Amino acid sequence: MSLPSITLTGHAQKEAWQNKVLPPVERLSGEVWSIPVPFPDNPMRYTLSYLLLGDGDAVLIDPGWDSDAGLEYLVAGLRQAGLGLADLTGIVATHFHSDHLGMAARLRTATKAWVALGDKEMRRLTEPEDPDLILRTHREELALWGVPHNRLDEVAMNHQTLTHLRNLADPDLRLAHGTLVPAKGLHLRVVTTPGHSPGHICLVDEPHAMIFSGDHVLPRISPHIALELPGPANPLADYYESLDLIAFEDAMEVCPAHEYRFSGMQRRVAQLIEHNRERSAEVLRVLEKHRPSTVWGIARHLTWSRGWESLQAFSLRLAVSETASHVVYLRSQGHDIDVPITEPHPSVLR
Ligand SMILES: [Zn+2]
Repeated sequence: MSLPSITLTGHAQKEAWQNKVLPPVERLSGEVWSIPVPFPDNPMRYTLSYLLLGDGDAVLIDPGWDSDAGLEYLVAGLRQAGLGLADLTGIVATHFHSDHLGMAARLRTATKAWVALGDKEMRRLTEPEDPDLILRTHREELALWGVPHNRLDEVAMNHQTLTHLRNLADPDLRLAHGTLVPAKGLHLRVVTTPGHSPGHICLVDEPHAMIFSGDHVLPRISPHIALELPGPANPLADYYESLDLIAFEDAMEVCPAHEYRFSGMQRRVAQLIEHNRERSAEVLRVLEKHRPSTVWGIARHLTWSRGWESLQAFSLRLAVSETASHVVYLRSQGHDIDVPITEPHPSVLR
């Protein structure tokens, strides 16, 4: 099924994307700037950070991956907008992933800016939980999903990942659905859009007719929706609900955290729903045909853009957790799927 396509607005970004280079810093409408920050060793290549200048306040959305080079790009972008680092008053991350929140800790030290996340986002970051318990629970879950024992070391989170997560900035502010980001002269309304992460938020800027969509809605790829235990019980169901919440303004410009800007939010939402429905249908076909007994057994029969055999380590973990999210969703829709997945339990991570 072919659905109406989106309307490209970030022409320079799309060109840069195709040429595999970093897009330019751009001044968008009014006092809104787009500043690309490199995302090293990742096919997404960069995070689009947005600077919004208010009435004495300057807010940065998604500061990007933490690196010296990233900071240089950010500082250069701020300079083009006539700002120094010290002028930043607030930092909002659409979600806790390192390519969004990553640089916030360093920026907070260098400025006096507050750091904000959605009020439903992960709370585990710097809490003094027992790391061994967290890692052991994670491995047990993966083993239950059928990840072969000789691949557990490769797939499971390790101490390094955990340390990395814990070095992310703990937020000073938590933003609730429907509230405004506290910055003078700006009108950024928070829309809580769980799915890609438990408490992902989008920011709607009606005066500029823009939606800052983080990773909730991207123009080309379908965001990764993972079952992570402990975590939300049915992230794909959450994602569908969140897509409905944000599908309201087709005329607004969508400013995503990766790839390029576009308009046609309703059209893109329809495509993303269709994509996920088709993926769920594929899971059902695999179950019918191969009768796998684990999540891993389903995953290895699904189609993957570079092939199942090419998936390793982190990307393999994403593949398996995405498959698990479809299984849980299909079960919630009444399908009887007999593969083991732990029931959601009170989080040890939150
Ligand atoms: Zn991202």
